[in-house]
Amino acid sequence: MFPSMRSWLVALMLCLVGLPAGAQRLPPSVTPTHYSLWFAPDLANATFRGRESIEVTVPSRVTAITLHAAEIAFDAVTVEDAVGPQTAKVLLNEAAETATFAVPRALASGTATIRVAYTGVLNDKLRGFYLSQANGRHYAVSQMEATDARRAFPCFDEPAYKATFDITLMVDTGDTAISNGRQVSDTPGPDPGKHTVVFAQTPRMSTYLVALLVGDFACRSGQAAQTPIRVCATPDKLGLTAFALSAAEQQVAFFNRYFDIPYPYAKLDIIGVPDFAAGAMENAGAITFRERLLLADEATASVDVRKSVASVIAHEIAHQWFGDLVTMAWWDDIWLNEGFATWAANKPLAAWKPEWRMDVNAATETQTALGLDALQATRAIHTDVQTPAEINEVFDPIAYEKTAGVLNMIEAYVGPDKFREGVSSYLKKYSEGNASGEDFWLEMTRVTEKPVNRIMQSFVNEIGAPLLSVASRCVDGATEVSVRQQRFVGASGPVPPAAAAERWTLPVCVETAGGPASCALITEVAQTMRAPGCGTAMVNADARGYYVTEYEPSAVAALSARTPPLTAPERISLLGDEWRLVRAGRHDVGTYLDLAAAWAGDPTPAVLAEAASRVSFVRGAVADGPQQARVQAWIQGTFRPVLDRIGIDPGPGDDDDINSRRGTLWQLLSADPQLQAHARERAEAYMANPSSLPPTLVAPVLQAAAQGGDAGLYDAYLARMKASSDAPEEYYRYFNAIGLFTDPSLVARTLRFALSADVRSQDTPLLLGQLLGSSATQDPAWAFVQKEWPALTAKLGTFQGMPNIVGALGGFCSESRAAEIRSFFETHPLPEAARVLERSVERIRSCAEVRARQAPALGRWIERR
Ligand SMILES: [Zn+2]
Repeated sequence: MFPSMRSWLVALMLCLVGLPAGAQRLPPSVTPTHYSLWFAPDLANATFRGRESIEVTVPSRVTAITLHAAEIAFDAVTVEDAVGPQTAKVLLNEAAETATFAVPRALASGTATIRVAYTGVLNDKLRGFYLSQANGRHYAVSQMEATDARRAFPCFDEPAYKATFDITLMVDTGDTAISNGRQVSDTPGPDPGKHTVVFAQTPRMSTYLVALLVGDFACRSGQAAQTPIRVCATPDKLGLTAFALSAAEQQVAFFNRYFDIPYPYAKLDIIGVPDFAAGAMENAGAITFRERLLLADEATASVDVRKSVASVIAHEIAHQWFGDLVTMAWWDDIWLNEGFATWAANKPLAAWKPEWRMDVNAATETQTALGLDALQATRAIHTDVQTPAEINEVFDPIAYEKTAGVLNMIEAYVGPDKFREGVSSYLKKYSEGNASGEDFWLEMTRVTEKPVNRIMQSFVNEIGAPLLSVASRCVDGATEVSVRQQRFVGASGPVPPAAAAERWTLPVCVETAGGPASCALITEVAQTMRAPGCGTAMVNADARGYYVTEYEPSAVAALSARTPPLTAPERISLLGDEWRLVRAGRHDVGTYLDLAAAWAGDPTPAVLAEAASRVSFVRGAVADGPQQARVQAWIQGTFRPVLDRIGIDPGPGDDDDINSRRGTLWQLLSADPQLQAHARERAEAYMANPSSLPPTLVAPVLQAAAQGGDAGLYDAYLARMKASSDAPEEYYRYFNAIGLFTDPSLVARTLRFALSADVRSQDTPLLLGQLLGSSATQDPAWAFVQKEWPALTAKLGTFQGMPNIVGALGGFCSESRAAEIRSFFETHPLPEAARVLERSVERIRSCAEVRARQAPALGRWIERR
């Protein structure tokens, strides 16, 4: 604080009055070109000292430089221009998270150097430069995205202010340091008990990509082309780094070829961090990870863990080009970063492990996005954002999965080779710089010579997803398909006028049984397409389109029974579309249940998982009291024969797909007392002998047993979980089962446990989210969240995890709960979750409406059977 500088403060306030309300953008005058950063973390006292010099360009004569700073205590600031150095006065604006350095003499235009000595806090809120703990010791690690680099060093903390960075860390003897650049020297001192690690200068990059890690990390080394690669972890987990390393080696080599640009940084480190708010972070050359998503023993890992580890690494490695080398100019285009990385992650995996069926994965991701886009509280892909809270909220499935779905559609439309060529050309054009969404689609349009700009403009700026209502008939040996488009609204009732006026430009591909797909660009409200041959038309060939298709119910039945059958992505797409039409009140729930029954024995695990989750929802949320037993009997009669056919217990030749399907069926059918008892036996056998179950089946069995479990099983799970702290997959198998016990006294124990020091703050939202998401446990969980709101906020901060808890409230299903939740947040406002709250309230209301509307249809369907 600088209480003696009243006159400066008045000047600053006058200056701020001129800015639009809520704006926190820096004034566009002074720009940084280079940072030299020196850090000396004090792990014992959770603080650090920092020294920095920033080379800036001063375009005109200015007397004040404003940059970002938060939780920084300034010791001394000087600004030196061609004339000489001046001591600056520091004016802080806590609300805007800025500091203004004011000098008595106007600076000469040209270059200047800002020198700052300061101290900062190694906080416990997992943002900026923060403290992590494991194995009885402290680590200092960082997470800068989106707006937290300003907590580690005063900076121009906006993505367009790219600069080069020289980074130096003075750390305890015996500890290592990792940053973005290659290590160039490591010398003892200068302080006693310390050594100084200097890293090579980085290429130009944004502040949110700076990485700082200090501790006793141990690394496994490898290489791809000329790039040295290491996967690092706390020393007890070094044995779990081999799988991630082999994935990273394959992926860097793959993307070198795909982008036709060599990996842009001098080395790649990938580090598992014990406490980490996000899943992973693409810091240039120093990717950080939540341990659970990085560290796995390939020999004993389930297929789900192997896939998620490889997939998240691929997402972060793709960012090294798309995001790090070329960066969006502002956060309103975050979709460009995140959607592209989500789309691209499937590419190297499809080449590496074809059996993982990444095309099915892409179809499932599109369904995730369509689920959110069905809400009124969705948003356009491009959304204006200004404040850190607003910026934080656009890291949502619209930025990730929806954009990935749109890119997937455009790749199918222009062809994979042309698409790759366009991406490569865009990256070369804007290397080490910034670009906007428009820059991307204009380059794609130029290279592909197709109207990608019109398609992308419409999908990026329109809110929601198109609904295509289709009818097809046979005319002269060809199928004529009439298509009508409108905004899909996932609730009954009139479509709001603004939504009714929306139109998309979209490529649609129609395929009749056995024939080649016919594609057309739909631009009008109503259009007619023709496909060769007669038969039931699939109006989203290969499930590459981002839209909901509405068929006549008779066409749905015909598609489910078609020969040759729909592809697995098409089956995912049709199941997803039908479910959305049920929720919107456009189709009856019976149409969906018949479709689910037709594919109960589907060989693709994701198809069964999609159907099983909806069928569970019908049983739990749609069926009223007497209907529940009838639906349960139908589930038993439909899905149990499938489980019997593939075998309740694993057989010697079973592959991952069989075990995945078996796991899904165990969970769907676990209400059956006989299967429940069997799950308990298998769970106990596993705890006594871990090789008694194939890895992919362990989590489903532990979870199925938990649903009817008693205190004895609960205590056994807790004990096994605590004993597995050095093996993330095993730890989370138990952690994820703890929240499924439904006995009220055990639920109360789980709630207390979630808030206790025994659960890392990164994991508290996972446990509470699970309890809030299940009808069996959500009432006590919501009571607990309200009562413990201050303690939760103290443990998590407002950014980390709290929005996830608000999101999980969307699992309720009554108008009264929706009203109660809204009124709670009127007195406990959380700007960081404003959008999420709207979405949760809408989901609750939609569920209540679905129950009211579909319960009679369900009754009729039951009677017909
Ligand atoms: Zn990402």
